[in-house]
Amino acid sequence: GRKGWRDRLRGSAFARSLSGLFSRNPRLDDDLLDEIETALLTADVGVTATTFLVGDLRKRMKAREFTDANALLAALRGDLVAMLRPVAQPLQIDRGTKPFVLLTVGVNGVGKTTTIGKLARRFKDEGRPLMLAAGDTFRAAAIAQLQAWGDRNGVPVIAQGQNADAASVAFDALQAAQARGTEVLIADTAGRLHTQQGLMAELGKIKRVIQKLDVNAPHEVLMVIDGTTGQNALSQLRQFHAAVGVTGLVVTKLDGTAKGGVVFALAREFGIPIRFAGIGERPEDLRVFDADAFVDALLP
Ligand code: GDP
Repeated sequence: GRKGWRDRLRGSAFARSLSGLFSRNPRLDDDLLDEIETALLTADVGVTATTFLVGDLRKRMKAREFTDANALLAALRGDLVAMLRPVAQPLQIDRGTKPFVLLTVGVNGVGKTTTIGKLARRFKDEGRPLMLAAGDTFRAAAIAQLQAWGDRNGVPVIAQGQNADAASVAFDALQAAQARGTEVLIADTAGRLHTQQGLMAELGKIKRVIQKLDVNAPHEVLMVIDGTTGQNALSQLRQFHAAVGVTGLVVTKLDGTAKGGVVFALAREFGIPIRFAGIGERPEDLRVFDADAFVDALLP
């Protein structure tokens, strides 16, 4: 429930910088707007989203909509929720689509492998037969990690050796999943190659090869983004989106010291659905993204 979110996000820079404002009983004046602006920028909300939020509050303050600072802070809360609601769209797995192909992308270290494990657990718990494709053929450890996870959880993992053609792994896996009537196929991909261009070309090739077997696949291109990387996350998304067309996001590591504000920047600048939030390392810490729960957890 909501409590889990609050416990995990309380210590975040976002919560800390804004909770000061809420607890101090500030005056309703331009200084308050300046403080809000600084707090949002500090929390990685980014210039575009911050300008929008503060601009809206300034306009409404000038129009004398707020009787006191608390009314303005309540409006800020409302604006923050309104910014996230349109992107809080859960991933829908259509049981009629077999297999539903989930292509996971993202740079190394963001929590992609962990997220695949958490997602696989979720689908398994939902009773959906699934299969994994070890598509990060650049890292032997990534293949081993996925295979170990599959062995522990009784989930088949399609893999080839290190440096195998990732598109060929994905193709084999989809063929196998189709033959077995598997419901969900989660394909891992590399997060780093010798060059960035090489990586984008490889992702594009994986997508094209998958489409040879199913024109509608992948049904979801899920990008995993590290919530602590701030504005860097935006340039990562821009690049992956241009290469493969990202259809959903997972923002990880929002627990602890994460700034978290990048979620607002992502929502404002891309409008791509945020499917899940990672708020810890346990399987149950991958939560379906909920705009109200997220904002409630950040604000006092
Ligand atoms: P990959 O290189 O993208 O596959 O990253 P990994 O899945 O290996 O994860 C990198 C590190 O981030 C690991 O130590 C994970 O436990 C950790 N991690 C992943 N998601 C979260 C999260 O939501 N919260 C926290 N605190 N740690 C996470």
